[in-house]
Formats: sequence, structure tokens, C-alpha cells
Amino acid sequence: MDDIVALCKRRGFIFPASEIYQGINGFWDFGPLGVELKNNLRDAWWNAMVKSPPLGPSELNGGEPLSIVGVDTSIIQNPKVWEASGHVGGFNDPMVDCRETKQRYRYDHLWVAVLEGADDVPMFAFMQGESDAAEKKLEKVAKKKNLPVSIKKFPLMDLKTHDFSRVIGPDTEKPGTLTEPRQFNLMFKTYVGAVQTEDSAAYLRPETAQGIFLNFKNVVDTSRVKVPFGIAQIGKAFRNEVTPRNYIFRSREFEQMEMEWFCHPSEAVAWHEFWCDERTKFWKDLGLTGDNLQLRAHDRDELAHYAKDGAGTFDIEYRFPFSAPGFGELEGVAHRVDYDLRQHQEHSGVKLSYFDQEKNERYLPHVIEPAAGLSRGVLALICEAYTPDAGRPSGVFMKFHPRVAPIKAGIFPLVQKESMPEVAEKLYRDLRKRHALQYDAKQAIGKRYARMDEAGTPFCITIDGDTLSAQTVTIRDRDTQAQEKVALDKVGAFLDDKINV
Ligand code: ATP
Repeated sequence: MDDIVALCKRRGFIFPASEIYQGINGFWDFGPLGVELKNNLRDAWWNAMVKSPPLGPSELNGGEPLSIVGVDTSIIQNPKVWEASGHVGGFNDPMVDCRETKQRYRYDHLWVAVLEGADDVPMFAFMQGESDAAEKKLEKVAKKKNLPVSIKKFPLMDLKTHDFSRVIGPDTEKPGTLTEPRQFNLMFKTYVGAVQTEDSAAYLRPETAQGIFLNFKNVVDTSRVKVPFGIAQIGKAFRNEVTPRNYIFRSREFEQMEMEWFCHPSEAVAWHEFWCDERTKFWKDLGLTGDNLQLRAHDRDELAHYAKDGAGTFDIEYRFPFSAPGFGELEGVAHRVDYDLRQHQEHSGVKLSYFDQEKNERYLPHVIEPAAGLSRGVLALICEAYTPDAGRPSGVFMKFHPRVAPIKAGIFPLVQKESMPEVAEKLYRDLRKRHALQYDAKQAIGKRYARMDEAGTPFCITIDGDTLSAQTVTIRDRDTQAQEKVALDKVGAFLDDKINV
């Protein structure tokens, strides 16, 4: 992972936020190449969802194109929204759960006792001030292993979370059952207006989904949509994560791509299945092929409060370098039943049910929600693309799918003479509106290839001696490094064909 982070910094994909002030934990900036990559992923999603949504299954809508519209809602909403959605009112402190016993502990109340200098012996967690049982257990272990009884006690907060695998919780016998600390109310609070009182408190949205539910009625009343239909949104979300980590995987400010699919309750299970398949296909089409991508059903006890009664939640997971051999969530596809519309209906007093004129039926639609991380998606694309290759001057190349590659082609004059720069510049000017191109005339050709390999540019187009005599250019393929001659006037068609796949 360190090599990937270094390349991202070196080539201008991702920088730590506020870097000249030693950074700020959990926040990242996208550089020139990173923002192009992110925008390309964003556009691919918007295209697949809103501009050109998939065809539905024949048994549900006769194989017709689905109807999905977009919105762009405020980051700050009336704070009552977050009461209705269940985001306010939970715990305000970081908590640690025991997966085995389902006990929940305040993170700052848990301590651990360890045998000093014995790294292969488990640690015992205990509630602050109640160390007796833990100490007795350690004495027993020391006796068994013939070790001196030298016990050290310290707060669990001082232990790195990856060492939690050695910790035995206060009410269990097995090590590794304590979860990482989670802040239950992880919304960022702010104040609206000149006076900072509790009455003017507001929150930065922790998910884009609620803005969609808030506009369900507006969209039904103003667009010609009929259930089943979807509303999609891409935008920033903010979570005051207790332990931001793994680069941009878990950050405190990130972007989401969410779509709420409103359907009749009787069809929800079938639509859920449809969206699981469709969303998996989306990521595969962008190059996350192979066994690094998997679809995993949530266990019953893993389900969020809104998903308990429905078809459940499936996660589309990616094997990130830091999670390997395990996987990390890239997108969740949840059946949220009618939880959100019902909650907002109750809290706002506004009727949010849908009236189906053809069937003469009024009901609250169920919702299938494919919710993906845009920032996390960028990280998955970067990890998948990173391909070490000792045979190249750069030692590595980024094998982005041409659709998401930040630069589609480099255009180079082989040398700065014999009118090669003029021809190359003309080609660049002719094609730059159709494709993201970079003109580069500096340094030896090998160095220019190396730069483009690290940027993940699929093609390098060189204007050479043959261009002047035979009107051809040399096009180098990033992945195979094979070179082919293409007629100068066919370069545009070549790129159209290879990029728009
Ligand atoms: P996790 O279990 O990783 O905390 P979640 O299940 O809470 O995620 P959702 O609320 O379902 O996440 O959000 C949808 C998507 O938003 C996730 O699949 C993930 O890609 C992205 N996401 C959530 N939290 C973060 C974060 N802190 N940083 C970056 N992306 C995130």
C-alpha cells in the first residue's frame, strides 16, 4: 500500500489535506490526475444510472429502460431530518462492541491488562477499576507458561486497533471479539446564522440518501415518474469517524453515489436481486474484474436498523491491499423497506404515500438502495490499476480502464525538429475537444512513456519521421507496449473506438 500512496503523491492523484500544516487526520485532496479519475468514475455512474439507466428485467417491467432522475440536495438540512432518520439520538461516545456476547462498552471505560514482555500471551480487557478478574487470569497464564507475574495495565485507547485481535473482552473467553471503536453519533455539528445556540445547531449530512427521501414528494409531483422509479444523487458526505484509516478508504469527508429505487413492496425482493447484479456488473465493466470483487450478504445481526425486515443488505466488496486476504466494502445494496418515507411522514406530518392510479392503490413504496462510495471507488480503481513491471523505466504502470483513465493519450513529437512539433501540435489541437489528451515535447521519448505509464494513459501517439513521409503515427499501447502504425487522419477514429468502450 505504501508504494501506491507514494505513486499517488508523486504523480498528483491524491495529497494529504492541509499538508503544509502537517495535514489533518481523515481529510484528503485530489490532485490534477486524481480529480480527472474521480470525475470519470462519477460520470460513468451518472451515465449508468440517470442518463442511460439499464433495461429492467422482463418479468418486472417488460425489459423497458428504467426511469431514474437526478437531484442535488443541500448538505445542511433541517436538523429534524436527522432525528427522523435515526442519526441523532444514538450514543454520543465511541463504543466498542463484543461480537461474541453483544455487550457494548464505552471505549474510554475499557482497560487492558498484559503480561510484560510476553507478546504471544493474550491481553485481558476489563472495566476501569475492576481489574481483579483480569489479573487473576493473567497470573494463571503466567504460571502455566512459567513466566514472571509482571502485570501492566493501561487504557484500551492506548492500544493500536490492529492489536485488538490479542484482546479477550471482559465477558468472553475468546480473543479478537472486540470491534474497533465506533462513534455512534458521528455527525459533524455546526451552527446556522449569527447566534451559536442549540436552536441554531445543524449537521453536515452523513449520507446523501436523506436528501433524496426529502424530495420524494417533489419529484413525484413535478416529474412524470411512476413507481417503480429511482432518484439518484452524487455528493459529499461527512462522518466524524473515530479511526479514519487506510488512506482514503475511511475518511471524514468523502463522496457518495446513491440511488433510491422506489418500488411496490411485493416486488422489492426481485428488484433487490436485480440491483445486486446490475451494480456488480458496473464495477466489473470499469475494470474490477477477477476475484478481487465479491458480493456478500450481510449476516442477520449485521443489518442496519432499517434493513432488518426486508431482503437484507448485500455488500459489493473489493480486496484492497490493506484488507487482503479479506475484503472491504465498496458499495452496499440494501432493502430499506419503507423505513425512511415512514419516518419522514411521521416526523414531518406530511403524507408521503404514493397513489397508483391504474391500480387505484395507495401505499408507501419500498426502497432498494445501491449506495456506493465515490472516493472509495477511486481507491479501488487505483489499487486494481497498480501494476509493478520491473521491465519498464518507471518500474510500474497504472492499468486504468480507458473509460476512467485521467489522460486518454499522450501526443509527442519524437524530436523537436523537422516540423514534427507542428504536426503533433496540430493533431493535439484537432482532437483535444474529443478526448483528454496531453501534449508533451520535453525529454527523451522513454521518459515521456514512463510519465504516461505512471499516469495510466492507455495510448502514446508519436509523430516521427514516417509521419512526414508516409502520413502515419506510431501508437504505443500502455499494457503490451506494442507499437503500431496508424494513418494520421485515422487517429481520431482510433481513439473513439478504443476509449468509448
Ligand atoms: P462502513 O461499514 O465502511 O463504515 P457503511 O456501511 O457505514 O460503511 P454506508 O452508509 O452504506 O457505509 O455508505 C455507502 C458507501 O459510502 C460505503 O459503501 C462506502 O463506499 C462509502 N463510505 C462510507 N463511509 C465512508 C468513509 N468514512 N470514507 C469513505 N467512504 C465511505
